[in-house]
Amino acid sequence: MINRRKFLRHSVLSTGAILLAQQLNAKSKLEVKLPLVISTWAPNVKANKAAWEILSKSGRAIDAIEKGVMVTEADPEDTSVGYGGLPDRDGRVTLDACIMDELGGCGSVMCIENIIHPVSVARLVMEKTPHVVLVGEGAYAFALQQGFKKENLLTPNSEKIWKEWLKSSKYNPMETMKHMKEKRAPGSIDNHDTIGMLAMDVNGNLSGACSTSGMAFKMKGRVGDSPIIGAGLFVDNEVGAATATGVGEEVIRICGSHTGVEEMRYGKSPREACQIAVERMYKLRKNNLNDMQIGFIAVNKSGEMGAFALREGFNYCYRIGEGVDVVKDAEFLLKN
Ligand code: ASP
Repeated sequence: MINRRKFLRHSVLSTGAILLAQQLNAKSKLEVKLPLVISTWAPNVKANKAAWEILSKSGRAIDAIEKGVMVTEADPEDTSVGYGGLPDRDGRVTLDACIMDELGGCGSVMCIENIIHPVSVARLVMEKTPHVVLVGEGAYAFALQQGFKKENLLTPNSEKIWKEWLKSSKYNPMETMKHMKEKRAPGSIDNHDTIGMLAMDVNGNLSGACSTSGMAFKMKGRVGDSPIIGAGLFVDNEVGAATATGVGEEVIRICGSHTGVEEMRYGKSPREACQIAVERMYKLRKNNLNDMQIGFIAVNKSGEMGAFALREGFNYCYRIGEGVDVVKDAEFLLKN
């Protein structure tokens, strides 16, 4: 379990880290000391740390990303990703993930069951098949063929939460998210959610990945934005990278992460690019967004990072400089 106080928040950063963070927030061209890694949601400092072990030894961003995301996938306390993820309404844990490298490579698995590391299967789809996406049974068969083991991903905790949900069987994505948070063990950190991770290695190359168990108690076969290239994740090594979290149906509608990267291509900062994606979604769907949350993080080719969300409550974390962890609350659109 992660103690939030161990994080260096923006208010308590060391002097060196403050300077670096200020540089990263500046609009001018930056002298960023590479590498860097950024993830959705504060608890993913642990994932950033694992990615850093590779990045700090001059490893490739794609290797770092995979290792980092695997940490969250293996964590039974995270009920939104991998092992311990909340199931669909039939009690099945179905996972979605995608990955993109600096060479235009991309791979994705959707609705895969009984495999703890969908990000690694997605990487193998990218590297070992002529395809980009494998779904369901096909993704599972491919994983077994590649040497992955069949595992039960439904933990007693997640099963208990699902059985309680069955009593009302009322599906409302945001109510479900609140329910998940209320059921967490005392002291566990809030804001667990899908992991989207972006990294730039010492050679300035970008990669990214996104992994989730999707919305809890979803319909069988439902897939959100997270494994969809361009929606939950987009990486263009010439420009930058972006990834999303929150209600995937809304992110898909505007091809959210691709939108963010295209805005950076035309000169917007990562934070501005994330804001434009959120505003576009709001303009299109303002009467349908009720209590929903959607958040984006992005990094550009200069190593500048940023984030923006629809509502208060989205945070993100990054590791920079000499290995300093920073956690920040994202700015947001709807102020009341
Ligand atoms: N974006 C994910 C999905 O819709 C869920 C999340 O980020 O919480 O599947």
